[in-house]
Amino acid sequence: MNAFSLVFLAALVLATATRSWLAARHIGHVRAHSAEVPREFANDIGIDAHRKAAEYTIAKTRFALVGVMVDVAVILALTFGGALQALDGVAAGWTAGSVTRGLALIALVIAVTTAIELPLGLYRVFVIEQRFGFNKMTLKLYFIDFAKSALLAAAFGAPLAAAVLWVMERMGNYWWAYAWVLWVAFNLLTLAVYPVWIAPLFNKFSPMQDPELRERVERLLHRCGFRVKGLMVMDGSRRSTHGNAYFTGFGAAKRIVFFDTLLARLDPPEVEAVLAHELGHFKLRHVMKRMTWVFLASLAFLWLLGSLMQQDWFYRGLNVATPSTGMALILFFIVVPQFAFLLQPLGAMYSRKHEFEADQFAARNASAPDLASALVKLYKDNASTLTPDPLHSAFYDSHPPAVIRIARLKRA
Ligand SMILES: [Zn+2]
Repeated sequence: MNAFSLVFLAALVLATATRSWLAARHIGHVRAHSAEVPREFANDIGIDAHRKAAEYTIAKTRFALVGVMVDVAVILALTFGGALQALDGVAAGWTAGSVTRGLALIALVIAVTTAIELPLGLYRVFVIEQRFGFNKMTLKLYFIDFAKSALLAAAFGAPLAAAVLWVMERMGNYWWAYAWVLWVAFNLLTLAVYPVWIAPLFNKFSPMQDPELRERVERLLHRCGFRVKGLMVMDGSRRSTHGNAYFTGFGAAKRIVFFDTLLARLDPPEVEAVLAHELGHFKLRHVMKRMTWVFLASLAFLWLLGSLMQQDWFYRGLNVATPSTGMALILFFIVVPQFAFLLQPLGAMYSRKHEFEADQFAARNASAPDLASALVKLYKDNASTLTPDPLHSAFYDSHPPAVIRIARLKRA
């Protein structure tokens, strides 16, 4: 134990206490407002749906808290419990080179934490989602998905991790600048191959059939001066009844993907309004702005890692006796989230600002009342709470609270 151990523990305690406090507030607020549908929604959402949303929100919030506690236990076991040191001993027994040893250590840590988190994932899907009628997955499909994700993570992640470890070892004091270039290139590559190679491994995509809807969507795209390669429908109903729509791909290869669950629920004018909202995100460059911030932050974090990994107190403070590049990388991923946690409200606020802008774009280019009625249906179908705790929402929510969002659309 040294001074850094205490700073780290203080950050971990502060982050965990804040999370628990926000969750308790949220549960209390949602429960206190569960007996009455907010006036603005009284015509569209019945008391049963409102109660279901409250119960679902409470169940999810409680469960998230269990996840936080498991995380804390894992972090403490890895560091002060000596598990990282023990895993490093295992990795050292397997291989001699420093890059391969780093890779082996990273793989071991990921395998152990994934195994611990697996029951949580199963509980979320087969108990919580199941109980509220959202789950469509079988256990078999869950494990097939799990295996595919693991293989993909190994196929893409292992070369990236190896390259970063190599750069850390060989490129001198400015390795973090090279690692950043690698990281940015990797992210852009992932974005480019995702719609073409990765998404089809999990879902079936077929061209949109409905001629009326196609025509509507094409008119909207034309109005906004937007060219896409395809309008696709995805079989989201294989896994869940939650609906969505998104854009994917770059430049001329852009495509629009609708979940079949969304199309089944919304009328064509509502689908158009939801699409106009998504189009707004694209036209207003929200994706690029967000990515720019993420890339800038990762440059700062890599620089920070570059200076931390040379400090003996960084390793000793986290109960590690054998400094190495692989170990530095793992410790960094354990430590940083406990401090970066306090940045979360800023990121959420930035995202909510973009949501309002996209709503305004949709109001201009499609119809505000149609978007409002689509949102009400989605809140209802997804059992999203209409009455979140204001502080919890300000801290975490990427989307504005329903009441505020709909009120703005009605004014648009
Ligand atoms: Zn949005």
